[in-house]
Amino acid sequence: MQPAETIRTKRDGAALSAAQIDDFVRGLVDGHWADSQAAALAMAIVLRGMDATETVALTRAMMHSGTVLDWRGAAFAGPVLDKHSTGGVGDKVSLLLAPMLAACGAVVPMISGRGLGHTGGTLDKLEALPGYTVDVPPARLLATLHTAGCAIVGASADLAPADRRLYALRDLTATVESLPLITASILSKKLAAGLQGLVLDVKVGSGAFMATLPQAQALARSLVDVARGAGLPARALITDMNQVLGTTAGNALEVQESIDFLRGREQEPRLLELTLQLASELLQLGGLASTLEQGRVMAQQALASGAAAEHFARMVAALGGPHDVLRDAHLPVAPVQRAVLAPCDGVLTQVDVRALGVAVVALGGGRSRPGQPVDPRVGLTQVVPLQHARRAGEPLAVVHAASPAAAEAACSAVLAALQWSAAGEIFAETAANPVLERVAS
Ligand code: URA
Repeated sequence: MQPAETIRTKRDGAALSAAQIDDFVRGLVDGHWADSQAAALAMAIVLRGMDATETVALTRAMMHSGTVLDWRGAAFAGPVLDKHSTGGVGDKVSLLLAPMLAACGAVVPMISGRGLGHTGGTLDKLEALPGYTVDVPPARLLATLHTAGCAIVGASADLAPADRRLYALRDLTATVESLPLITASILSKKLAAGLQGLVLDVKVGSGAFMATLPQAQALARSLVDVARGAGLPARALITDMNQVLGTTAGNALEVQESIDFLRGREQEPRLLELTLQLASELLQLGGLASTLEQGRVMAQQALASGAAAEHFARMVAALGGPHDVLRDAHLPVAPVQRAVLAPCDGVLTQVDVRALGVAVVALGGGRSRPGQPVDPRVGLTQVVPLQHARRAGEPLAVVHAASPAAAEAACSAVLAALQWSAAGEIFAETAANPVLERVAS
């Protein structure tokens, strides 16, 4: 089969056959498709789209391009479940949800990613814990799942390798923004992880990759439908990313917030609500709860009893992190901390969340080039929620930086990202429910 013929088919707007798609995906792995050809097909898909049948075929072919984890011999007592988020700022839900689900009897092999653009990555966050390793061989992954019920780790090189090559090419050729390509990329990795249920957190707003609700709805629908077409029960929640989730952004800072959350010391209401809703969806999807309400109560009990915190601690210890992480996480601390002060009495009316994410990246908390090391210490804490009032001189956020100059620059960037209304009405509370819509099959 000639790559140029396949490219021509899509360039001219026709649907690709299953054989053409299989050849493309095989060619990504064995190299018989050149980078130029793969990028040309990606661009043709961006411009011409793919129908549902093509998208399912692409997803399945990418899933089978490497190892597909099979847990049948693992003798797990519960269903194998996971969540995927499309990415945001301050999104530490994975760190909370995985141990909560494990405490409720699920098994959660959470294959996670690194920060992308202005968004944070779960692996970067957990690596702030000294010793925590995200690169584990299958036997250690299995042992961690048996000990802790959850394991948040990176993808091994042989998990959906076609996606790894295609994603790198898309990143370089302005072909990331395509519903079928995003759908196949996300789901091929989740399907290869051998899941029995998946919930997708599709973020929308100024800190998300999907800026508008119709874009997020289309992605959520595509993900849920293609997952079902590939045999994986899935649901999606479309959730607000017009403000930082929780009160912190930055790797070690988010881990500390997560530990405080699991220990019941501080549970920011929006973060709590989103985590409970995602948990209840998954517990119902996995058959551990018969209704969403029952799932919510189970998740609340897992938190309140300390069982979720205990599972988190077991996971961290099993993956090489501190042995008593709940008592002392040994997280590194930035040498400079500086408050961003309210310029006048007022109310926070709007946040450019992407700009806050970029400020964290500029502090060293994310990457501007692939492979760059991240500084786990830096970021933001005490980020003021939308519609909250502050008096002149009160803190809107605290910047954690490696140097006074970096802190200075971040303070200016944070201030510029917050729209502050001196005349606005003062609201006591911001909306505590970040879930905007639910998409089920
Ligand atoms: N995340 C992925 O894994 N793939 C995409 O294409 C976009 C976001």
